[in-house]
Amino acid sequence: MPSADPSLVLTFEDARHLVEEHAKRLRPKGRELLALLDASGRVLAEPIHADRDFPPFPRATRDGYALRTVDVQNVPAQLEVVAEVRAGSALEGVPPLQPGQAIAIMTGAPVPSGADAVLMIEHSSRSQNRIEVKRSIAAGENVVPARAEGRRGDVLLPSGTRLDYACIAVAAAVGRSRVVVYAKPKVAVLSTGDEIVDVDVPPNPSQIRNSNTYSLAAQVHAVGGEAVLLPIAPDEPVRLRELLAEALECDLVLVAGGVSMGKYDLVEQELAALKAEFFFTGAKIQPGKPIVFGRVPCSRDASAQESDQVQSKYFFGLPGNPVSTMVTFELFVKPLVQALAGTHPQPLIFLSAKLTKSIQTKTGLKRFLPAQLSGEFENATVELIAWQGSGDIASVARSNCFVVIPPDRERIEAGELVPVLLR
Ligand code: AMP
Ligand code: MG
Repeated sequence: MPSADPSLVLTFEDARHLVEEHAKRLRPKGRELLALLDASGRVLAEPIHADRDFPPFPRATRDGYALRTVDVQNVPAQLEVVAEVRAGSALEGVPPLQPGQAIAIMTGAPVPSGADAVLMIEHSSRSQNRIEVKRSIAAGENVVPARAEGRRGDVLLPSGTRLDYACIAVAAAVGRSRVVVYAKPKVAVLSTGDEIVDVDVPPNPSQIRNSNTYSLAAQVHAVGGEAVLLPIAPDEPVRLRELLAEALECDLVLVAGGVSMGKYDLVEQELAALKAEFFFTGAKIQPGKPIVFGRVPCSRDASAQESDQVQSKYFFGLPGNPVSTMVTFELFVKPLVQALAGTHPQPLIFLSAKLTKSIQTKTGLKRFLPAQLSGEFENATVELIAWQGSGDIASVARSNCFVVIPPDRERIEAGELVPVLLR
C-alpha cells in the first residue's frame, strides 16, 4: 500500500509547497455574467477598467479654503473669500483664483484652478468675506490631484480578483452593474466508514453521525467552490470504487476517512486501482498525519481545453477524524480550490500572539492545536483550549484559531510569541 512508503511522508512545509506547485497549473472552467451584488465573493473573469480619470478633477479632502500657498508664506495672513464651491459644483463655474483670494470649499468639491492647497477650516478665522490664515500650509495639502488614483483605461481590478466589499465598491465606481465571473468549481465530498450515518438517521449506539461531509462542504463554500455531496461510502471496495468514479466527475475530489493504516482503510488501495499517482501519503503534522494527495488520470471531458489529451483529476484523502479533516482542508486543500475558482492561491501566513499559559507537548510533528485568541488592539494573547484530540469538534467550535507548534519544541513558556493560524 502506498502509505507504507515512508518517503511519501513529507514535512508540513514540503507538503504545502508541493500542493501550491500543483495548484499553479489549474485553471477555472466556465464563466458567467452576474449582477454586481450577486458577484460578491466570486472571482472576476475579466479585468475592471477605469471608465474615467480618478479623481476626474483635483478633489478637496477637507472643508476649508482653497488658496495659493505663495500668498500665505508668512502667517498670519489675510485673504479675501470670493466664492464658494461645494461637492457636485461644476468645474466650469468655478472662477480661477487670483492673488490674495481664497474660495470656500467643501470636502469632495473640485479645487479651482490657481489654487494649490486647501486650508482646513479649523486653521482659519473668518469675518465676513475675509479670513485670517493661522497656520502655514504646503502646496498640495488636502488635495488629491486629478488622475492620482487611476487614469481612464487603467486596470483597477485584474481578472482573478476575488470580489470583496472594496472590489465591489471599485466596480460600482466605474459603472459596472454587471460583471463576468468564473464558474464555481465542483468539489466532490465523499465521506467513508461503515460506522457513519447521515444527519437525519438516528444512530445506534456504535454509530457516528456524519459531520465531515458538512464541515467540508462549508469549507469549500467559504473558499469559493461548490460542494457536491456524495452518499457515505462503506468500507467495502466495490461500492467505494463506484462512488470514487462518481466523485471523479467533479473538478476536485475530497475523500474523508479510510486513509489510515487500518485493515478497512481502503481509499488508497481503490485510488491505486484507478491508476492514481500519489504525491504524498502523509505529512508530519498533528492532527492530520495520514493525509494523501494525488491525481487520477481521467478520460477527457467535454469542457477540457486540450484536444485528445488525457486529463487528470486531483484528489485528497483526508483523515476521517473530524478535526483532522478540518485542519487538513485549511492547510492543504484551499490552494487547489482557489486555483480552480480562478484566484491566485493565497499564501498561508501565521500571525503572532503572546502565549498566556505554557504548553507541554511532544516533538516530531508540527502541531495545530485549537486555541482562543483574545486581548485587544496591539495586545493579542492566545491560550490553548482543552480538547480530547482529533475527534473533539466541540472544542474546535469554541476556538477561533490554531496555535502552531514547531516539531522540535517540547515546551513553550507563557509569555513567548507563538504563531497562530486564524480560522
Ligand atoms: P478513519 O480516518 O476512517 O479511520 O476515521 C477516523 C475517525 O473519524 C473514526 O473515529 C471515525 O468514526 C471518525 N469519522 C470518520 N468519518 C467521519 C465522518 N464523516 N463524520 C464524523 N466522524 C467521522
Ligand atoms: Mg474509517
